[in-house]
Amino acid sequence: MFSKENCDLCGDCLTRCQWMDVNQDQAAAWMKAMMAGEHAPAVDQCITCYACNEICPKDAQPFYLIAGLQEKFQRVAPDTVAATEARFVFDGDLKNLPRADRVMSTCVFAKTDGHLIQGQLYDMPQVGGKPFFCWILLSHMGAESIQRKHAEKFVDRLAATGAKEIVCFHDDCYAMLAGVAPKYGIPVPFKPIHLSEYLVEYLTARKDQLRLLNIKAAYQRPCASRLTPEKEHFIDKVFDLCGVTRVDRAYDRENALCCAAVKWMLGMDDPRPDQEKNVRDATDAGAEAMVCLCPMCMHSLDGPAREKNLPLIFLGDMARMALGEIALPADKQGEKQ
Ligand code: SF4
Ligand code: SF4
Repeated sequence: MFSKENCDLCGDCLTRCQWMDVNQDQAAAWMKAMMAGEHAPAVDQCITCYACNEICPKDAQPFYLIAGLQEKFQRVAPDTVAATEARFVFDGDLKNLPRADRVMSTCVFAKTDGHLIQGQLYDMPQVGGKPFFCWILLSHMGAESIQRKHAEKFVDRLAATGAKEIVCFHDDCYAMLAGVAPKYGIPVPFKPIHLSEYLVEYLTARKDQLRLLNIKAAYQRPCASRLTPEKEHFIDKVFDLCGVTRVDRAYDRENALCCAAVKWMLGMDDPRPDQEKNVRDATDAGAEAMVCLCPMCMHSLDGPAREKNLPLIFLGDMARMALGEIALPADKQGEKQ
């Protein structure tokens, strides 16, 4: 997936990486070494945020070069990777698949984060659990080949519903279906719909019922969004429809900062200073809340956000607040009365 032919060794991917300190000459030298299959410091310093794929002006997809070497040099111990694969692999038969033109895939979050999948928004046939795990997590573990190995079965199981449209609760699933699988050459015989696109459709149809929230919020853009940046305008539209101002902060859009949860998986140093930096950036920009699209970001940033009294709001919950289904966090509600 890395395109050596496209790469002109400009070094931008590494010099603009938020997780390594490298100048243009070093970056070019590291890229050359990695293209020759050799180890370079980037292999160890990369936290797998996918930003370089978005940054590269030549669409050379440099993350996949690094990912291949992370695997070659066993960035994560093979038994840890194997245990994770075993945890998510599914070899059984699919039972009781819903039959509908539109089905939502909840990934593996119905069990762990079911409170985020509540209300009328989610009132549609759903699939989820291990058979519908999208495997993007594995490329966060220096095991992109395992992600690739299982990608086709993931697509096939969703296709087995016969749905024309699959609404993705999780950004990673959308990234797999709309970004990664087509690059692997896997046909996707249905339309993947990102949660934000679905929310725009849902809220627009109920525009007269919406209560504008009138708050300023920071957006925590997940790493997987780097793989499908074309859907970003839907996020802005959801904010607009909910009456939430997306604050202009340093770590947003192409400069988004990974929530750093992956540092735990990669056995790197303590992610806490990065998480605090992220939250501080939001509050410095005047945010009264931080809106997250990925449940993992919410878990990762929870502690530092609490310390700063910055509520974390899931994107779907922001829509539910505007629909009047659930309330704004208590202190923000008081301020708005
Ligand atoms: S992968 Fe892209 S950004 Fe990186 S050196 Fe090559 S052309 Fe430049
Ligand atoms: S994936 Fe992220 S951390 Fe890794 S090199 Fe690219 S920008 Fe840096």
